[in-house]
Amino acid sequence: MNDRLTAQKPMLDSPQLAAGMLIDGEIVAGEAFMPVIDPATGTAFAQAPDAQRDDLDRAVAAARRAFPGWSARDVTERRAVIHRIAARLREVADPLGALLTAEQGKPLRDAIGEVRRAADHIEALSAFDVAGGVLREDARERVEIRYLPLGVVGGITPWNVPVMLATVKIAQALYTGNCIVLKPSPLTPLSTLAIGQAIADIVPPGTVNILSGGNDLGVWLTTHPDVDKISFTGSVATGRHVMASAAGTFKRITLELGGNDPAIVLPDADVEATAEGIARSAFANCGQVCMAIKRVFVHRALYPAMVEALARRAAAIRVGPGTDPQSQMGPIQNRMQFEKVLALLDGVRATPGAQILTGGERLPGPGYFVMPTVVAGLDDAAPLVREEQFGPVLPVLAFDEIEDVIRRANATEFGLGASVWTADTDGGGAIARQLEAGMVWVNRHGGNGRDVPFGGAKHSGYGREQGVLGMQSYMEMQAVTIPLG
Ligand code: NAD
Repeated sequence: MNDRLTAQKPMLDSPQLAAGMLIDGEIVAGEAFMPVIDPATGTAFAQAPDAQRDDLDRAVAAARRAFPGWSARDVTERRAVIHRIAARLREVADPLGALLTAEQGKPLRDAIGEVRRAADHIEALSAFDVAGGVLREDARERVEIRYLPLGVVGGITPWNVPVMLATVKIAQALYTGNCIVLKPSPLTPLSTLAIGQAIADIVPPGTVNILSGGNDLGVWLTTHPDVDKISFTGSVATGRHVMASAAGTFKRITLELGGNDPAIVLPDADVEATAEGIARSAFANCGQVCMAIKRVFVHRALYPAMVEALARRAAAIRVGPGTDPQSQMGPIQNRMQFEKVLALLDGVRATPGAQILTGGERLPGPGYFVMPTVVAGLDDAAPLVREEQFGPVLPVLAFDEIEDVIRRANATEFGLGASVWTADTDGGGAIARQLEAGMVWVNRHGGNGRDVPFGGAKHSGYGREQGVLGMQSYMEMQAVTIPLG
């Protein structure tokens, strides 16, 4: 089967070759195509199919046909299929990682790591019991809570961690007895299409369909009358459109959206260990992580030392093409995002009192490279603090009073994650509980256990994915009451 991916390898060398979509168990070339850009060079290196409305209709119809058979399978059979998908992903981790690096930009080591983590992740998810059970049984009646598959799930993913997000959506849908039609970002379609090719002989025809295309394809999917649920990961702005589109047919929706996560560093925190944890979160994947730390509030007593320790770490990160084994950080994934980050940096330079301690520049030459940057001296109204930068540029702000920093951390529409860094973990927990976010941590940021439901408060999301609760969002709850005696 490795041949499936090796057969794709010429895609890396020739813009003439296109990847195929998985529709009803067949690999389909498509009729229209769109270029795929290598962010390390800014030039097109391949083409991907640009699915049309009738391609989507065929995929949804195939998923609908496959649904009765798939949902009737025992959960142990469905789990076995997910384990085979995980094994296949591990087999193809190297070529799939290479494709991910080519289109997304991240260092090859990280790309291969993403594939392997995705495999581990779906095995863990498929261990949970999501079936429900008896709520109550007394002399009068027995009440059961059942969780039933919904039917056809539409999955929509962004460009920052495409393999992980696609894999997790596929596995959650399949494990819960649904079929899925998945649409990756038009900016990173190839690795997700390659997953389709890699697993085509494992999943029954129609259960998993993968189509690449533009934003229109997302609109068609979210308004399609035969799609029962949308699992969307992407920006707040698009999430709003998805929510409105889904209303027409009362689709179930899960929205995993953007964030502007704060980290609060208390005066008793260990400076070096805290700077290490914060830098790791803020600069991973070139800052393009939904729950990356995007604002750091440091108690004034530690401010100079923390700013210095963060800047030292940022300056030590080696930036370069993902294909270079020396690179620790690749380019920003696309031109629009690159220009947004450069504009935020221009704004910082124009702000009196703001200091760029390290970085602040793009790399000369082609590609969308930005040096890891630490900024001090901004106030909370600065765009770099208020907006989701989604790039390797970290603002560090000072605070004096706990009540005040809690208010400032919460003064945002976002609410994905938040963290508190301190030697007093109980006290840190008490502060973390006051932060308006779906996930809060003490002395770390991210890295949830696989049983922890993932998602955001406020405008950062709607519903949860993963864990038992998240997987049950792919199911309809049924309460069954039967009289006794
Ligand atoms: P985006 O919203 O621009 O695009 C996401 C997907 O939506 C793409 O596949 C796109 O083609 C599709 N789309 C665009 N318009 C659509 C429409 N009208 N209807 C349906 N689909 C449509 O997001 P992006 O720029 O690709 O991704 C970056 C964003 O994703 C960031 O804000 C980041 O924080 C967020 N994100 C969130 C999570 C999370 O789990 N909370 C994870 C990763 C990324």
